Amino acid sequence: MLPTEAPQPDLTTLAQPATLSGNVESSSIAPSFLKNFLNDNPYFQAGFGLMTLGVGLTVMRKSLVVGTAALRRRMLVTLEINNKDRAYEWFLAWMSSQHAIQAQKRLAPWTRSHQLSVETTVEQRKNGSSSAMFKLVAGPGTHYFQYKGAWMQVKRERETKSMHLMSGTPWETVTLTTLSRDRGLFPQLLSEARDLAMKGHEGKLVIHTAWGIEWRPFGQPRLKRPLKSVVLAPGVAENIESDIKAFLDRRQWYADRGIPYRRGYLLHGPPGSGKTSFIQALAGSLSYDICVLNLSERGLADDKLFHLLSNAPERSFVLIEDIDAAFNKRVQTSEDGYQSSVTFSGFLNALDGVASGEERIIFMTTNHVEKLDPALIRPGRVDLMQLIDDATPEQACILFERFYGGRDIQQEISEEEVKALSTTLRTLIQQEMENERTVSMAALQGFFIRNDARGAVAKCRDLFTQRR
Ligand code: ADP
Repeated sequence: MLPTEAPQPDLTTLAQPATLSGNVESSSIAPSFLKNFLNDNPYFQAGFGLMTLGVGLTVMRKSLVVGTAALRRRMLVTLEINNKDRAYEWFLAWMSSQHAIQAQKRLAPWTRSHQLSVETTVEQRKNGSSSAMFKLVAGPGTHYFQYKGAWMQVKRERETKSMHLMSGTPWETVTLTTLSRDRGLFPQLLSEARDLAMKGHEGKLVIHTAWGIEWRPFGQPRLKRPLKSVVLAPGVAENIESDIKAFLDRRQWYADRGIPYRRGYLLHGPPGSGKTSFIQALAGSLSYDICVLNLSERGLADDKLFHLLSNAPERSFVLIEDIDAAFNKRVQTSEDGYQSSVTFSGFLNALDGVASGEERIIFMTTNHVEKLDPALIRPGRVDLMQLIDDATPEQACILFERFYGGRDIQQEISEEEVKALSTTLRTLIQQEMENERTVSMAALQGFFIRNDARGAVAKCRDLFTQRR
């Protein structure tokens, strides 16, 4: 008799591998057994449920991330500023200044943030003394603040793995994020930050030095020196000042004729005659900065020099001092005999620069104009050469009267006596000059500081030296 019902499988049958023939029944039995087994197994059911939940959550999370990113793209706008840009410092300083303003408006100041950095500034007062101040700036991390009613997120990040090749400082970025509709606030905020930085420099002279291939402010901005405080021979200061003013007024004239808009000045004369002081005072009076270039600097090569001269900050004079010492016999040596890789031809090349419409004003100084190569002082490289010499009788008298005239705190001396002493000094200097003996303004200044008016006139003959 053929069996009508399949026999109930036992576990041993299941454990056997199914053969192709004769085991048809057992292979159809297995799924139902498995089904029953799985259905009846609470551990499996719990696991399966958890797995479904996990998958569901992952899908939800993924779509949330994608959705948020899409929403962010649509609704938020970000602005990135890195520390290569000048706006970087301006923004941090601006943010630091916001603290007091936010407190006034009863807004939560961003300084509640937990990541702060300190920036120390040394402020020079009018009387020459200085004091150190600490400014709290946003440290690396995330901060929030309100600007004109809009919330902004500030993320300051520091790259620790790579450094700025030339300066060795880490790369940094500040990323500002706000709602798309408030994007118009970014330019406003940046202009405010710039104006604030400029206000801090008002009445100050900023000196830049070369850091690798870029210019960086050197120290704190200094108080400007009044132009009149540098006493030059009659007409000398006026001559240079009117030349540079005429140059600055003729930008369009140069552009129309396709002439490179640049001017070179060479001030020559003995040390201590006021060359550097005058250039600094002139820059201050025109609200220009000064970029000091040291040709003997280690690591400076022709290509870097070219780059630096072509990329000086706007409204600045490039000052190259003691040009005779830098290129002695066309080889550039520093005091310790180190020969830098700036070549004379590379220097001339950099002076000529690429013929761009950008303004370039270069001041060079030397104590020995006779040592200079004629190629350096030809027009186009040096357009105005001016001798700034040792003290003339007029200069010495002006300096003398500035020192001892008016109300003198050190001694009781009448204006009449100061005038009389000044006349004596004038005669004395004239006599010495007839004997080819001169004195520098720097030496006179130092002498006047140490002596009273009468003593200064009585002993000043000792200062004169034979003219070289
Ligand atoms: P130089 O660049 O010609 O060597 P500096 O400008 O460095 O001279 O001057 C050195 C010091 O002497 C400065 O402190 C400056 O105040 C003073 N000095 C030099 N020349 C003059 C001058 N013509 N008028 C006023 N001060 C001067």
